[in-house]
Amino acid sequence: KPIVAIVGRPNVGKSTLFNRLIQSRQAIVEDLPGVTRDRLYADAEWNGRTITLVDTGGIQLDKDGDTIEAHVTRQAELAIREADVIVFVVDVTQGVTAPDLEVAERLRRVRKPVIVAVNKVENLKREDEALEFWSLGLDQVISVSAEHGMGTGDLMDAIVAALPSAVPEEPEEGGPVRVAVIGRPNVGKSSLVNAILGEERVIVSDVAGTTRDAIDVLVERGEDKFLLVDTAGMRRRAKVEQPVERYSVMRALRAVERAQVVLVVVDATDGVTEQDQRIAGYAHENGKACIVVVNKWDLVEKDDRTMAKKTDEVRARLAFMDYALVHFVSAKTGARVHRLLPLIKEAAANHARRIPTRELNDLVREAYALNPPPSDKGRRLKILFATQPHVSPPGFVFFVNDAELVHFSYKRYLENRLRETYRFEGTPINLYFRTRA
Ligand code: GDP
Repeated sequence: KPIVAIVGRPNVGKSTLFNRLIQSRQAIVEDLPGVTRDRLYADAEWNGRTITLVDTGGIQLDKDGDTIEAHVTRQAELAIREADVIVFVVDVTQGVTAPDLEVAERLRRVRKPVIVAVNKVENLKREDEALEFWSLGLDQVISVSAEHGMGTGDLMDAIVAALPSAVPEEPEEGGPVRVAVIGRPNVGKSSLVNAILGEERVIVSDVAGTTRDAIDVLVERGEDKFLLVDTAGMRRRAKVEQPVERYSVMRALRAVERAQVVLVVVDATDGVTEQDQRIAGYAHENGKACIVVVNKWDLVEKDDRTMAKKTDEVRARLAFMDYALVHFVSAKTGARVHRLLPLIKEAAANHARRIPTRELNDLVREAYALNPPPSDKGRRLKILFATQPHVSPPGFVFFVNDAELVHFSYKRYLENRLRETYRFEGTPINLYFRTRA
């Protein structure tokens, strides 16, 4: 999905606009426990295109003593690197300000579409004043009132018109397993990547990534190939502080998008925090296979029950992705790191698994006979036929006599039967029901 970044000074109405746009008539916002609160990104659909909107206002990039201008500039830099389309929000009541000019100057020099959203245009007089923003020399100027929901349809039209044509990055058959490593700052992402690359049995080579300054690393172990996507800043890090941001939502989203398997790294000494939940949500919402890597295991005092207990804690905090694999490592000592690549391989295989139609229908028939759904007002659900039209992640369609008769608990039952029979560890699977009279 293309990424659309919303940038601008504080208080110009970025978040209000963001919320308006994602609640636009056709918006898809999935509710996830622990993930929806102060979300910085969300998918929205408009005229058949799905985009990921990112509210850069919520991204903390400030270094100590940062001025507002420096902060805005940094946001803009990030947006320039990672976004496909940039929405630059300005405030009509303040007119064109000096920081607006500075950011515009920078935005003009990149070859990405920039749409100026002139906010707080609530009457005709303001409409006239909004014209002033054409002087910024950017591609498009659209008047909106985020608060009153005016002009947001026009803005979405302009965004969609500016999108690059869709070029999905399909995993190639026989190609390397694409892996993204994401997590909060300091959980040990760089250390983990370095620990994987430092293993004796792997061969490493650099591959230029698709986004500017994304560095992909190809790792081979025996016959197996893995591509660690966007390791920029991870390999040589160790001592040198990255001058700009160490972690960004857009960067992580971009990496997740390109991956089949996502390693969500968390710190064993902190447990799963709210920010970790939000980050894990990127993998979940994108339908990726997921391994929760609990790092810094060396710092935890252990007895023979610690791992089981910690696993339960991690699972409870990430209940929305109960399919995820959980693996404990120490990037520092290298303990258990060698087991990661085989786990990644397994998760990727499950993510791409296709069940033959005949087998699937045998399983469904047996599951149905074993536990027929209760009748509902004298009518009973009948499953006529099942098929798996999708992989990555696996998606199953059940043709039934009436899709309205499918209860959540029965869907859950069928999912459990599929999971018990086939090895879907690490990957989400989707079940859809269609009425076929
Ligand atoms: P990143 O920001 O997620 O890339 O995290 P880093 O890899 O830079 O690690 C942050 C800090 O945690 C550094 O001081 C590392 O030395 C330390 N660290 C990383 N992994 C481990 C680990 O497994 N055990 C211990 N004790 N420290 C670790």
